[in-house]
Amino acid sequence: MKNNINWNFDNTYSRLPEIFRENIKPVSVKNPELILLNENLAKSLNLEFSNISKSKLSTLFSGNKLPEKSNSIAQAYAGHQFGHFTMLGDGRAVLIGEHLTKTKDRYDIQFKGSGKTAFSRNGDGRAALGPMLREYIISEAMYNLKIPTTRSLAVVKTGEDVIRETTLEGGILTRVASSHIRVGTFQYIAARNKKDELELLINYVIKRHYQEIEKSKNKVVDLLKKVLDKQIDLVIHWMRVGFVHGVMNTDNMSIAGETIDYGPCAFMDIYDPKTVFSSIDKMGRYAYCNQPVITKWNLARFAECLIPFIDRDQNKAVELASEIINSFEKKYEKRWLQMMRDKLGLVGENEKDKSLIIDLLTWMHQNKADYTNTFCHLMGEKIKEDKKYKNKDFIIWKETWKKRLLYKNNTPNKFNKLMRSVNPLVIPRNHLVENSLKETERNNLKPINRLLKILKKPYTRQESIINFQRPLSSNEKYQTFCGT
Ligand code: AMP
Ligand code: MG
Repeated sequence: MKNNINWNFDNTYSRLPEIFRENIKPVSVKNPELILLNENLAKSLNLEFSNISKSKLSTLFSGNKLPEKSNSIAQAYAGHQFGHFTMLGDGRAVLIGEHLTKTKDRYDIQFKGSGKTAFSRNGDGRAALGPMLREYIISEAMYNLKIPTTRSLAVVKTGEDVIRETTLEGGILTRVASSHIRVGTFQYIAARNKKDELELLINYVIKRHYQEIEKSKNKVVDLLKKVLDKQIDLVIHWMRVGFVHGVMNTDNMSIAGETIDYGPCAFMDIYDPKTVFSSIDKMGRYAYCNQPVITKWNLARFAECLIPFIDRDQNKAVELASEIINSFEKKYEKRWLQMMRDKLGLVGENEKDKSLIIDLLTWMHQNKADYTNTFCHLMGEKIKEDKKYKNKDFIIWKETWKKRLLYKNNTPNKFNKLMRSVNPLVIPRNHLVENSLKETERNNLKPINRLLKILKKPYTRQESIINFQRPLSSNEKYQTFCGT
């Protein structure tokens, strides 16, 4: 394939020792057909696809013909899945290379659903089209909500069936990430007990993601602190918009702090801290309200891997690592409070802020109010279920809130601006996502493209946005599946 697309590969990960990866090509597919191509993302990567025919794009994004200078690999990693340690690795994905933009930003380009690898275990190495489209929709929605995330460049239909509970159409997603290095990557290397390999990985990660600590005195301690900070910021974003990741296994936690691996994730409609969508999460381990707790748990697994390099004295190392991990709660609480203040337009700090916030959340929970739409209502947006907000307790709460709003010379101008920068008017509503997937499978791409368009500007009033704001009614239960 000619290089007029402007691929600019420099594949550093594939130059690491062999134990980090398997060299492998995507397994070709029968009859690929491009379904979605993300032109905005392509542009920001300085990639040019506009002169390429659809059939060539289908060949490219199915992995049937790799670009020059790509060097495809499957990455090795391990992970705690629902608390149990397992050796994993890319069982249905290949990293085709690291692309450098004009400004030398480095991005992994990965095909997901591209066939068996050495890490496939009993899987077929494939993905169904529906879940790949779903990852495209949700990851792009997250990006537009200003949340760190991997992104989606393209989806193709493979023209082959994949067998799950039923027979489904196959699909391949092109995923773009700052990197695919996970907590599980560290776990994989640490489990091998070879200090030189671990040191290599640590240095690689610092060079790639945290150059600012390259020269610091105890870089490994600083690395742990940096990753902890990034993960706190990330989970606060999730809590802000009501995102439930659904499979926060350590292999699904990116060291770069991006949301990664959109499997059974979904957005909460009615506010309920115990919200779980995933059919396999029977215990609610990854419920909405557990996400910060699990983030901390995963970070502790990360810290364990780093122990040999934190201090020569193991006891000291454990003490230091624990101290950092235990700083989680205080930092989280502080940033969560600030995030909630922003959602309510509050300026400055007041000792009663926390109870004001909790009172609202409790009211929402008890009255089955929609999380996103309640904040829309507070911003003066007209939404369909407005009747709920005539409730007496809510009106009393609102009076207290309004008094607090005026604190520190706050003005409508200021608080409106603040609230509108953090409260989305629209999120990917589960029933709309499902409907758009169903229609896409029937070759009607209108609903998915309309949804993607609305989700590009979640903080902006848009024509007919009201059609995208309705939640599922409270007696409809939404469930998600891993889609493997
Ligand atoms: P995930 O739930 O997508 O994070 O996947 C967990 C692990 O299972 C990863 O190692 C995946 O590569 C692997 N996996 C998931 N689905 C498949 C599949 N269909 N074939 C092979 N490996 C898979
Ligand atoms: Mg995964």
